[in-house]
Amino acid sequence: MHKISKLAVLTSGGDAPGMNPCIRSVVRTAIYNKLQVVGIRRGYQGLIEDDMYDMEARSVSNILNLGGTILKTARCLPFRSDEGMEIAYQNLKKHGIDALVVIGGDGTFTGALRFSKKFPDIAVMGVPGTIDNDLYGSTYTLGFDTATNTVIEAIDKIRDTADAHDRLFFVEVMGRDSGAIALRAGISCGAEAILLPEKATAIEDLIKNLKTGSSNKKSSSIVIVAEGDKNGGAYDIAKKVQKEVKSYDVKVTILGHLQRGGSPSAFDRILGSRLGFAAVNALLSGKSQMMVGLEANHIKITGLEEALNQHEFKLEEDLMQMAEILSI
Ligand code: ATP
Repeated sequence: MHKISKLAVLTSGGDAPGMNPCIRSVVRTAIYNKLQVVGIRRGYQGLIEDDMYDMEARSVSNILNLGGTILKTARCLPFRSDEGMEIAYQNLKKHGIDALVVIGGDGTFTGALRFSKKFPDIAVMGVPGTIDNDLYGSTYTLGFDTATNTVIEAIDKIRDTADAHDRLFFVEVMGRDSGAIALRAGISCGAEAILLPEKATAIEDLIKNLKTGSSNKKSSSIVIVAEGDKNGGAYDIAKKVQKEVKSYDVKVTILGHLQRGGSPSAFDRILGSRLGFAAVNALLSGKSQMMVGLEANHIKITGLEEALNQHEFKLEEDLMQMAEILSI
């Protein structure tokens, strides 16, 4: 086990609220343990371009409440090549960095694992940061709770106007491969239907449901569509439904990038703090090529290899069934 003296931290892939509390936690836990700390800007891009700076406890003052990431993030093509990884490694060696905390999603972890297998003298620890909540090894990922709350706030407002006008709204939320936000928001807002990438919904069944709701005196209906649903986007689905369901005026809202922003919720601030703290302590205890996560409210450490191999999207059937029953 090699002793760590200098640690770097980066955020990579899609930004997620809660990344800042996590950066703060990593920096201060490392400083408490007498490590030097370096912040790398724009994920793996900054690693390759040698865009990094020394951080102190005061570098992370007053950032708990900030959305986004003070380190910025990026998608970096050159890091996928051996040449790019070699440059990144040389930059880390030049600065005497021997440990790396990467905060991001499965792409970020895939890159980190490949890099660490090539250059095992750099210890690597992953922190799950993505609004999609689609990583094995952690029940929740950073940003998911805040994004879901943002969606709920927006849909509550849509419900007001939908109700006033007897309208049917299709609301598209983020989730190309994951219906996690759509499902939680659907339960929280009493959506009449939830369309997810993990489960095929026949348009005919959706139409039947909406007609039943209308004849049951529902004054408004909201259908939440995760962007990765196989029927197409909210506009396409709305067009098909409009032809058949004449009792409602049909409208579409795409929530888009507002779902990524905003001050992190209490849950994400605490999760970011816990995961950052755990990541540094795991590195100090000699662990590498792993990720920290939260399961049953306890920190769990999973090998990156296992986390990436196990990666699959699981529909929470029980929640889906409950949502259907509660929206009759
Ligand atoms: P999100 O879930 O929010 O999209 P992510 O971490 O999955 O986050 P990606 O864009 O997929 O986001 O990955 C982030 C970065 O990780 C990529 O831009 C790239 O630099 C690096 N990366 C992804 N896959 C690989 C790979 N196979 N080899 C090396 N690096 C990779």
